[in-house]
Amino acid sequence: MRNIVILGASGSIGRQALEAVRLNGDKFRIVGLSVNTDVGFLIRAAKEFGVKKVAVSDDASRKAAETALKAEGLKLVSVSELCRTEEADTVLSAVVGIAGLRPALEVLRAGKILALANKEAMITGGRFLKRAEKEYGGKIMPVDSEHSAVMQCLSQSSKCVKNIILTASGGAFRDLTAEELKNVTPEKALLHPVWKMGKKVTVDSATLMNKGLEVIEAMYLFDISLDKIKVLQHRESIIHSLVEYDDGTMLAALSRPDMRIPIQLALSYPERYDVGAGGLDLASVGCLNFGAIDCEKFPCLKIALDAAGKGEAAIIALNAADEVAVKAFIDGKIAFTDISEVVGNTVERFSDMNVGCEEDVFNIDALASQYTISNLIREVR
Ligand code: MG
Repeated sequence: MRNIVILGASGSIGRQALEAVRLNGDKFRIVGLSVNTDVGFLIRAAKEFGVKKVAVSDDASRKAAETALKAEGLKLVSVSELCRTEEADTVLSAVVGIAGLRPALEVLRAGKILALANKEAMITGGRFLKRAEKEYGGKIMPVDSEHSAVMQCLSQSSKCVKNIILTASGGAFRDLTAEELKNVTPEKALLHPVWKMGKKVTVDSATLMNKGLEVIEAMYLFDISLDKIKVLQHRESIIHSLVEYDDGTMLAALSRPDMRIPIQLALSYPERYDVGAGGLDLASVGCLNFGAIDCEKFPCLKIALDAAGKGEAAIIALNAADEVAVKAFIDGKIAFTDISEVVGNTVERFSDMNVGCEEDVFNIDALASQYTISNLIREVR
């Protein structure tokens, strides 16, 4: 029986994790839940899963909900307390953005298993997370489907890895021309051809920034150099990623594209249970397609890879600028093709800064966000 805390329970990953627990109630017990603002969801989920400890990260929502949570017999604690909760052995972090970095560090410093769906934490604070994992005896389990696949394909011969190959579906606009990309709407960007995910990551998939962020995530997670991580277009999202070895062998992990599979594996590893995703009938899939990515058409991928080469400050700035730019696009303030320009400018501005300690990560993030926001205001004027 695994005792689990879910941070960000009301989001796409959080809800799918609850589904996995619902199906395998004898294997998992939820001992804590957090949401950002959706207190109604929190109360319903706590009741259904018999959870007593809850947290609300947004200050205003927490204050407004105090009485209601008390009336339901729920114990309201801080997110930090939830991360360290005695009863839990595993914490799933499905928080969005750099807001998840501090909680992720706390989970690892409590020596627990961190099932990490929050890629921004790994991107901005990868060095510190890996250090905490080593020092305190915890473990980081990837939830991102590509990284889950890589983890499964990395055998004991990990010294002989030639390349890690991350597959990319290509996102919502994979078949559009560069010209057509100028006029796409947020509504269209939010329709992913294969995966069902949150808003930020769906837009990131459409720009291919998501793949760039995943390359950086892989770099930290598997402690592998940037030149050994490749990206391969694979429309069907059946092969979730591959590992190529020195002898020319490639190992791949295949399944239906269903996030419940990697979510549950991060919670149950090395055990595997039915998640209701169904099997993969390769005879009816027929064929799988592969191709090169067009970086000209999707400049965000190249900007992310360049930032990865420049170092931590550039990566933190990339992440901060992307969060601001994606929000501005969803709010209809900038065009889809402006995202890369906005992000590129901020990366350029901050890449020479030094990241000595954890606080530097948050400082550069704040400065880069502010800089990106003021740039956008100037442009809109
Ligand atoms: Mg992914």
